[in-house]
Amino acid sequence: MLQRLENEARLTEEAHRLYGLLKSVSKEDGSPWTYDDCLAAAPYTLSINRFKKEQNAVILAHSYTTPDLVYGVADYRGDSYELALKARETSADIIVFAGVWFMAETAKILNPDKKVLIPAGRAGCTLADAMTGEDMQKLRAQYPGVPALCYINSLAEVKAQCDACVTSGNVFDIAQKIPGKELIFVPDLLMAENLEAELERRGTPKKIISAGGSCCVHDKYRPENVQKLRANYPGIKVVAHPECPIEVCRLCDYVGSTKGMSGYVAQSEATCFGMLTEFGLVNRLEAEHPDKKFIWPFGVCRYMKQNTLANTLEALIDPRPEQVVEVAPALAAAAKKSIDKMFELTQ
Ligand code: SF4
Repeated sequence: MLQRLENEARLTEEAHRLYGLLKSVSKEDGSPWTYDDCLAAAPYTLSINRFKKEQNAVILAHSYTTPDLVYGVADYRGDSYELALKARETSADIIVFAGVWFMAETAKILNPDKKVLIPAGRAGCTLADAMTGEDMQKLRAQYPGVPALCYINSLAEVKAQCDACVTSGNVFDIAQKIPGKELIFVPDLLMAENLEAELERRGTPKKIISAGGSCCVHDKYRPENVQKLRANYPGIKVVAHPECPIEVCRLCDYVGSTKGMSGYVAQSEATCFGMLTEFGLVNRLEAEHPDKKFIWPFGVCRYMKQNTLANTLEALIDPRPEQVVEVAPALAAAAKKSIDKMFELTQ
């Protein structure tokens, strides 16, 4: 009886902790997170946080995963670059990466001796999956001598064949530092267009040669989405990710990485923002700026949302084979060179 009461008290306390963090956060249908949602999440967050401690594990959660993960159990939350840095620095024995496959793969490349787990298993990404190592090999053969950058949203077999890796936060600065008038940039065709335009704007033009695909979330936005936001919300500031089409980016007040958009919102005196990006970032901003209003037309990454509290607990207790990240040592060593080059060029 006493034990049952103690358990109930712990659950109630945890539900209150979660509700304090999530009460200003919305769900996809526009309804808010409720105390009951938090009470349902509490047994998972309590168990995950206990196992995490016992196993000396660290949980890294991308901002596009769900808020119960981001605020309930993650030790660090952020975009690909911020989490790659955390993965490089951690002293934990186990890294649990709530994100998609290429991110967990990057964490493993940076930590070949650690156990790296991904709750969602081999969760894909339309960008990373748009290009194979063979495609990259052909492209480099077609343009001999042209330096090549790859977006971090790429597979290890692509990274291994590039001179440096980049993220949406450092792509413009790193591209500017690469000598020459031509540059290969893969696998985001839309970011390649934005890159070429930005380099032109900075007075350091380059012809960008690209191949690959696009992000299935950001490639859906159209100029009409920006126009509608401005018509319906006078004074609104519209922000977008550089994975969006260039004709959309040109109409926005700010274009930048997940971290860049967060920084823009934090320093802006505006109170209403149109968010042309994935819903998870909207949730983070709602939690961190309850005094500001965020209008989100649409955009959910179904791959990121495959990470749940249930499969995070499963990965910690008894991971399925697809939740354990392995990268062949020779491939990891080659891909690491391009990731290390990014860290070097970002300093
Ligand atoms: S939001 Fe786009 S780029 Fe990011 S993981 Fe999903 S599909 Fe890939």
